[in-house]
Amino acid sequence: MAFPRPWRCVATVDRIDVDALVRAGVRCVLIDRDNTCVPRDDTVAPPEVIAWLERVRAAGIKTCVVSNNFHSKQVERSARELGCDVVHHAMKPAPVALWVAMRRMGVTAGETVLVGDQLFTDVAAGNFAGVRTILVRPQSEKDLWYTLIFRKIERAVYGERTYEGD
Ligand SMILES: [Mg+2]
Repeated sequence: MAFPRPWRCVATVDRIDVDALVRAGVRCVLIDRDNTCVPRDDTVAPPEVIAWLERVRAAGIKTCVVSNNFHSKQVERSARELGCDVVHHAMKPAPVALWVAMRRMGVTAGETVLVGDQLFTDVAAGNFAGVRTILVRPQSEKDLWYTLIFRKIERAVYGERTYEGD
């Protein structure tokens, strides 16, 4: 299996250029919750993430949270705060939840971008589904123990990443 490869790397969600997404033919943004929209050491999304998602929708792009987090009440509450549709229990890197979300949003894989902070779940799921991915830096250093191990593997394989917008 090839190592997962993101389409782009951007430092934070709110630095993703919305006009560039429109020009790239994006009609739907699927977005991870934990450490992409909502820091692991917090329960609410920062205002700049909420504002960015509003800009995305104002540009005519649909938005849907796709989360592996099994606390579905928390995930649904976040999706409401973010103004997004939601698919929880996503089991990324399996591509099934992406297919479910794209079908619900009425878009094709070619019209979709997935934004997330993890190579081995978010980017891998996007690669499997043929969806372009934007890897962002995790909002918080805090994370699940196995995620921290995956981050170490990622650093060993790729070295330190450079992110646009730094
Ligand atoms: Mg995450």
